[in-house]
Amino acid sequence: MDSPYDVIVVGGGAAGLAAACFAGRARRRTLVLERELFGGQLVNADVVESYLGHPDGILGADLSVNMRMQALKFGAEMALGAVTKIELQDRLKAIHTEDGVHRAKAVIVASGTSPKKLGVPGEEEFYGRGVSHCATCDGAFFQDQVVAVVGGGNAALEEGLVLARYAAQVLVIHRRDQLRATPILQERARNDPKFQFLWNSRVEAILGKEAVEAVRLVDLRSGARRERPVAGVFPYIGRRPNTEFLVGLLPLAPDGSVPTNERLETALPGLFAGGEVRQNSAAEAIAAAGDGASAAIFADRYLQEHWDQ
Ligand code: NAP
Repeated sequence: MDSPYDVIVVGGGAAGLAAACFAGRARRRTLVLERELFGGQLVNADVVESYLGHPDGILGADLSVNMRMQALKFGAEMALGAVTKIELQDRLKAIHTEDGVHRAKAVIVASGTSPKKLGVPGEEEFYGRGVSHCATCDGAFFQDQVVAVVGGGNAALEEGLVLARYAAQVLVIHRRDQLRATPILQERARNDPKFQFLWNSRVEAILGKEAVEAVRLVDLRSGARRERPVAGVFPYIGRRPNTEFLVGLLPLAPDGSVPTNERLETALPGLFAGGEVRQNSAAEAIAAAGDGASAAIFADRYLQEHWDQ
């Protein structure tokens, strides 16, 4: 059997790649396992203007490549693979993927979050035919058409602003009459003539034949129903932690996120968590990167205390 890694990082987004940089700099043999795209949510982000050190912003795709290059430079290995289970194997942790098993002395969970679904008729059926979670990827398909974003948070407005470059109109469908998004994004959206806000509204169904043609909305105050023609629907109603592979291994928070202490230690010795998967994460790329760096530093201390003698 192969010798174990010092550190295995589950997830190759901002938190995971920062963890890999710092574990590599500590000269720990490190593997990053990523199920989809290195860079995580940043891969599909447009211009990221909230990441410190880039006063003019940086394309999410460029930031992703830079982060990955930096982690590789410090010696981290990278592999594609979805982690399905983590088991304890004596003092080691066995990390199962669809392709095999890797073993490590310490694990950093940085598996991020996935978009929540509306759970309404038409959402699954029209996914890729008008329903999308990525304005940067799909916005250009909606040139001069009417599109809807659902939700009132940062993601809805930020992605809505990307859509407004192409679309004739961006409907923001929100269940309350107040936005949750950060003030700078609210200002931009409210000042953009392409934005129209549909307050106190819930999407009841996404309608169409071959592709999306309309949404059916319920007015949450009056109960009245109406249809609005749209060519695209972009749900941004929050995200859920990717922690299915941790169920039964350690206690999770009610929302599925991973509780840690201030050293980013979980309830299981040698298992750390950081980034959006962590309970009470600030859910910003820069905060995720900070978490990843911290988790790697504390994992290194754990290895010094428990394995290096
Ligand atoms: P979020 O901040 O949790 O906002 C989700 C929005 O969806 C809220 O407005 C919420 O309404 C609404 N919502 C929730 N469940 C719903 C349902 N079942 N039906 C209809 N509407 C529903 O989520 P997010 O916007 O995806 O952002 C996630 C995290 O990433 C946040 O911490 C955010 O700050 C961060 N983020 C930051 C940036 C940035 O600053 N550059 C960009 C994207 C994301 P209520 O307001 O009524 O609860």
